[in-house]
Amino acid sequence: MSLDGGYDDGNIFAKIVRGEIPCVRVWEDEQVLVFMDVFPQSKGHTLVISKTSKARNLLDAEAKTLGRMIGAVQKTARAVKAALNPDGLMVSQFNGAPAGQTVFHLHFHIIPRWDNVPLGRHGEGMADMEDLKALAAQIAARLEA
Ligand code: AMP
Repeated sequence: MSLDGGYDDGNIFAKIVRGEIPCVRVWEDEQVLVFMDVFPQSKGHTLVISKTSKARNLLDAEAKTLGRMIGAVQKTARAVKAALNPDGLMVSQFNGAPAGQTVFHLHFHIIPRWDNVPLGRHGEGMADMEDLKALAAQIAARLEA
């Protein structure tokens, strides 16, 4: 999907927001939902999505939505650091299929990195659900207000 076009209500993150399919939730408020990526590129790979916006990407998004989301990204990234003690932390966001986007609902990736541990491939290798639940609980336990 290119950068142009409309929002598809049938995308997988829209279904997660509506509760039609499950996710391994870390935390949420009225605006954002934070959950574990099921095809993690590293241990603790977390996604931050908007619950209210019909933006597909950064270019579509309302500035207010972006403000709320980046605050949620920072809050989550701090909790990931506290919980997992990574050496580095990557925040990424893709716009359009040629840039690597596969789900066309605005979201940010938080990907912890460790020295000498290569990054996994994007969207490959499904995680064990019990491992993800344990990681989500560890991260949630380190959230600050
Ligand atoms: P992007 O390629 O930037 O659009 O990112 C979409 C991300 O969503 C990828 O990293 C996928 O691994 C992840 N993903 C796809 N389906 C699910 C799902 N049902 N639950 C959690 N993460 C998902």
